[in-house]
Order: sequence, then C-alpha cells, then structure tokens
Amino acid sequence: MEKKDGAYKAHVLVLPFPLQGHINPMIQFAKRLASKGLKVTVPTTISATMSMHIGSGLVDVEPISDGQDSVSQNDNLAFLADGSGTLTKLVEKYEASSDPFCCLVYDSILPWALDVARQHGLYGVSFFTQSCAIDAIYYHANQGHLTLPLAAAAAISLPGLPELGISDMPSFISEPKSYPSILEIVLKQFSNLEKADLVLVNTFDKLEDEAVRWMEGIWPVLTIGPTLPSMYLDMLIEGDKSYSLNLSNPNSDLCKKWLDARQTASVVYVSFGSVANLEADQMEELAWGLKESNNNFLWVVRESEHSKLPSKFLEETIEKGLVVTWCPQLEVLAHQAVGCFLTHCGWNSTLEALSLGVPMVAMPQWTDQPTNAKYVEEVWGVGLRVKVGEKGVVRREEMEKCIREVMEGERGKAIRMNASKWRELAKDVLAEGGSSDKNIEEFVARATFFNASRSPPRAE
Ligand code: UDP
Repeated sequence: MEKKDGAYKAHVLVLPFPLQGHINPMIQFAKRLASKGLKVTVPTTISATMSMHIGSGLVDVEPISDGQDSVSQNDNLAFLADGSGTLTKLVEKYEASSDPFCCLVYDSILPWALDVARQHGLYGVSFFTQSCAIDAIYYHANQGHLTLPLAAAAAISLPGLPELGISDMPSFISEPKSYPSILEIVLKQFSNLEKADLVLVNTFDKLEDEAVRWMEGIWPVLTIGPTLPSMYLDMLIEGDKSYSLNLSNPNSDLCKKWLDARQTASVVYVSFGSVANLEADQMEELAWGLKESNNNFLWVVRESEHSKLPSKFLEETIEKGLVVTWCPQLEVLAHQAVGCFLTHCGWNSTLEALSLGVPMVAMPQWTDQPTNAKYVEEVWGVGLRVKVGEKGVVRREEMEKCIREVMEGERGKAIRMNASKWRELAKDVLAEGGSSDKNIEEFVARATFFNASRSPPRAE
C-alpha cells in the first residue's frame, strides 16, 4: 500500500519455503504489512511459481532460482539446504535500485537467510510457521534437554507445555530415525536464532499463553497469528478472502454448489493437507468409517492418493459424498453446511478450524500433527482425537464413533461451545488493538524506524 506522497514506509522481503503450509501464513503476514503501509516482496522459487495459481494481491511475487527451475522439478531441496547465492543476488539487485529492502523476514527453516540479511545490513526476522509448543520442543531437543530416543513410558515435562506422552510428540522426535534429515532441519532453526532481531510466530497469546511467555523469555518474540485472510476474521483488509498462492487448483464452484445444497452442520469435511499420504488399508478404513457414520462428507483426496480409494466406494456413497482433489478450504470451513473437520491437524488447518469455530476430529499423521491433536482435544477442547488400533491403523468403528460423537453426541455440544469461544478470541486478537494486531503494528514501527536510521552493513 502506497503512502499519499507515493513513498512506502519501508520495503520488506518476506521469504517462505515454497510448501503450501509455509507459503499461506507468510503471504498473509505480508498482506497485513502491505495494508499497514509497507511495500512487500515475496520471492518464491521458479519451480514453485510455475505450478502456482497466483491470485491478485497486495504483494509483489518475485521468481527466484532454486537450482532446478523446471516445471516438473519442485522439490526445492537444494534451496532448503542453502539458497544464500540466490537470495544474495536478489538482495543485491534491489540494493542497486531505488527501492532497496530494509528487512528480511525469513522462514525459520531457512536459517542461512539470516546470514545473508546480516551481510547486507538488513533487519533480520525469523518467522516460525508452527506453534510455540512445537518450537519449544525442537528447541529443547536441540539443547540436549530431551534425550533421543525418548523412553517409551516417560511423561515429558517441558516449561510452558502440558505434560506430553511420547505419542503427543512431533514424529521427528518420537521416531528420530524416521526422517533424520528433517529432524536436522527443524533443530537447525535454532542454530543462529540469537542473532535475529525479532522472532515472529503464527499463533496468538491466549491460545498458547504459557508457551508464548516461555519463548518471550529467550527471544524477542511477537505472536502475529492466526494468519487467515482478513475477511474471515477482522475484515480490516477489504477483499482479502483467500491465500492468493495455491499450489493446486481448487474445485471451488463444485464444492460451493454441493455444500449449498446440504443442510446446516450436516457435512463432515475431510482433508489431510498437502503432504501426508495414507496407507491403502488406512484409506479403506476411513472410507467405510465415513460411510457408516451416515453423514454427508466432502473429502479431499489428492490426485496421487486416488488409486487408494476402495473400489465401488464412490458409487456407493454418491448420494452423501463428494470427493475432490483440492478445495478452497477456508470457504469450505466457513460454510454453514460443515459440522466438523476430520483433519490431520497440520498447523494451518488447525488454526483455520479454530478461527472459524469448526469442531474437529483429529487424525494426526506425522511431523507436528500429534502435538497439535493433543491440544485440540485436551487443551482447547475443540475436538476428539481418534485412537490408533493395531498395526498403526485407525479402524472404521473408531472413525464412525468419533464422527458421530462430535456431530451428534453430548461431548459434541461442549466441543461446539468451545469452538465458538475460540473463534471469538481469534477475531479479537486481529481486530484493532488486539494482541496480534498490536504486535504487527510494532513490527511495522520497528521496520520503519530501522529503514529511517539504516546503518551500514554489519560485519559478522
Ligand atoms: N488447503 C486447501 N485446500 C485443500 C487442502 C488444504 O486450501 O483442499 C490448505 C489449507 O487451508 C491450509 C494448507 O492447505 O492452509 C495446508 O496446511 P497445513 O499446515 O494444514 O497442512 P500441510 O499441508 O502443511 O500438511
């Protein structure tokens, strides 16, 4: 957003790692900054940009190289490991223009970006796209406060967090041998964090009160979430209704028409996000559990997962169910026909359901999802977590039971009341003067001050 005299308060570079769950919160934060008078540029790797559906918005999107740059190659792994060369080129290109960056907000899983910021005299700000609880757990693991592998029976007590069992821990911690390279990445977030000027977290104070206080004791933390488009919460940014960058094409018209024809709170919306894959036998149990629950359902089954649907399932459920490859999730969750969200508990999906007051059936798969599911059920009281049966599979009877309980049961009533309470709190924090709004204002003030008083590049 331009100031009246045509100048901006400051030019900020916001750098997400190009996965849907990282792009969404960082783009939304970028839009908030733009609405408060900053100019914002968001670089995304060329390979990701090529497969994105870019909506119009308040921010400039700048394609950069990840070393692969073909339409089919979208793994971005080289960039994740070290994209300093590419980022340096971008920063220097703007440095030579009349519109240099003063600040870099980088995804916390790209810690090398802070070194680039430092070398070019930029204000360096780390952005955590996951919850404070998760950040705290990874921090303690990095500090050696948690000895891996964890003892199976032990209850884990960490400052600011409820007591956690091993099955509540992020999968990279409960099963450190499962994805050692990702474990290394999440621990590395803390390798140089003490040098960051600010640490932003996509959460809000009341949601994780004690964990936020604990984090504030270590780093200069500002909570700025939940990062949903403004029209779903505070309505302060006119026309901000979607995340703008979609890595897949949503079946919007079809979903809307189908939901419009369903009764209020009669639909179970099912999605496992953009990455998680279910085993074929788990898919089968889920499919029949959904059918047996006898509710309407809208299920997102990504193209790559389609072959795992049981044969005849689509024919047998044609009256009650719709299966799509991707949907406009926010529109779906905000639709009055939706009565509950059967979710993998990715952090964005969790925040979206909380912010829109939708009860959840939590079926975590991996990464931070088990911890989020624990909070959904036991800390915020906004859903039930399915129990995992033999061979790690959730049986159809368990699915059916949890769905029915949330949709029609006694616990469902209490869950719906809590869900409404959290929706109101989420709206409050982003409304003018709310905690996240104040923190975003503080960020804008700091970036503006830094821009006005820029020092020469700081040496390492
Ligand atoms: N999403 C969507 N359409 C879908 C499924 C998911 O727009 O059909 C969005 C969802 O709103 C969320 C993001 O994709 O913002 C998924 O992020 P999350 O952290 O929940 O899960 P991940 O994909 O990272 O596992």
